[in-house]
Amino acid sequence: MSGVRKEEIAGNLAAVEDRIAQACEAAGRERSEVTLIAVTKTYPASDVRILAELGVTDVGENRDQEAAPKALECADLGLTWHFVGQLQTNKAHSVVRYADLVHSVDRARLAHALSKEAVKAGRRVGCLVQVSLDDDPGRGGVLPAGVPELADEIAAAEGLWLGGVMAVAPLGEDPGKAFARLREVARALRERHPEAVMVSAGMSDDLVQAIAHGATHVRVGTALLGRRKPFVR
Ligand SMILES: *Cc1c(COP(=O)(O)O)cnc(C)c1O
Repeated sequence: MSGVRKEEIAGNLAAVEDRIAQACEAAGRERSEVTLIAVTKTYPASDVRILAELGVTDVGENRDQEAAPKALECADLGLTWHFVGQLQTNKAHSVVRYADLVHSVDRARLAHALSKEAVKAGRRVGCLVQVSLDDDPGRGGVLPAGVPELADEIAAAEGLWLGGVMAVAPLGEDPGKAFARLREVARALRERHPEAVMVSAGMSDDLVQAIAHGATHVRVGTALLGRRKPFVR
C-alpha cells in the first residue's frame, strides 16, 4: 500500500522538481538557491516519512494541533520544520518546541511570545516577517510599511533570528506583480538586516512566478501530495 503512495509522491516530486529547475534556469538562478518546503498539512506522518526517503529535507505545517504530534512522530528524520500558518500567541509555547522557523510572524506581540518561549525551551527559532501584499490584513501579514519595525523587534529578540520575509499572493491578482512588490520589500529589509536573506513565496500554482522574483523558499503542498479535503477550523 505504502509502495503505491510512494510511487505517487515520487512522480509528483519529480514534476515539481522539473518546474523548479526550469524556473531557475529561466531566471538565471542556480537550483541550489531555492529550497523546496513540502507543506504536509492534512496529510499523515507516513507521507512525511516518504518525502524524507525521497530526499526532501524541509516540511511545512500550518496548525499547531496537527503539527506538534506529527513532528514528534517524525523526530528521527532530521527534517527542518517550518510553521507557515497564522499563529495565536498562546501556541508559541508548543510551536517553538518543534519548529525551526516560523514564517508567519506578523505582530510584535507574537514575536515577543516566541522569544520568551524559545528562551525557555533553549531553542533559537528563525522568524520571517509575513508581508501583506494587498490591503486586506485579515488574511495575515503586516503591510510593507510596518516591516522594518517588526524586523527590528525580531532581530533584537533573544531566542530568535531574523530569516527574511514571507508572503502569500493575493487572490485575483497576477502573482508575478505581487511577488515583484515582495522582492522590493525583501531588498529594503536586507539593507537594514543583511543577514535576512530568505524570501518565502510561491505555492503549487505560482511557484514559477515566485522563483522569477527571487523566492528562496517555495511552499508546496497540493502539487506534491494531492488535493486536500476541505476542513472546518
Ligand atoms: C497550504 C499552504 C501552502 C501550500 O499550498 P498549495 O497550494 O497546496 O501548494 C503554502 N503556504 C501556506 C501558508 C499554506 O497554508
